[in-house]
Amino acid sequence: MDTQLLPDNLLTTQLKKIVNWSRRSSLWPMPFATACCGIELMATASSRFDLARFGAEAMRFSPRQSDLMIVAGRVTTKMMPVLQHIYQQMTEPKWVISMGACASTGGVFDAYATIQGIDQFMPVDVYVPGCPPRPETLIEGIMAIQRIVDEDGLPKGPRRPLQLAVEPTYKPVPQPVPVPLTVGGR
Ligand code: SF4
Repeated sequence: MDTQLLPDNLLTTQLKKIVNWSRRSSLWPMPFATACCGIELMATASSRFDLARFGAEAMRFSPRQSDLMIVAGRVTTKMMPVLQHIYQQMTEPKWVISMGACASTGGVFDAYATIQGIDQFMPVDVYVPGCPPRPETLIEGIMAIQRIVDEDGLPKGPRRPLQLAVEPTYKPVPQPVPVPLTVGGR
């Protein structure tokens, strides 16, 4: 139901609140875990941290049943079209968490094949910092999504259109120290 189309009055405002409450209490994540951050994502859903307390523990591996994409780990230029394809197949409204330094900035992988921030190619609602972020940090990120849903029920800000043709435009920073051409003094 698109509650944004309803005019504001007592009845529809209460209806919007109920719809937003239902959405924020039953987020269905779509995990896109490519590296070590994925292990922290798995830990977040396990009994020790118990993501079920926030109603977001039902990881769906079918994008058509998901409304929260969690990108955990580095994404390469070859992977990005796949990620975009999965994002497009997800149901509306949908939100995206960029988990960890690699997904948000490329992290330590300062290389032409690694995407230096997935937000160059798809919308991101919440960035979760860290390398890797602890499960508590990811939980805070999910709570931030819940706050967005509580406010208006829809993703924040203008949605950046997907740039489907991925061309690596990033130039790696040159080595700060010259690499010696000889090994072991020979
Ligand atoms: S941010 Fe750190 S922990 Fe996460 S995928 Fe990158 S290197 Fe691994």
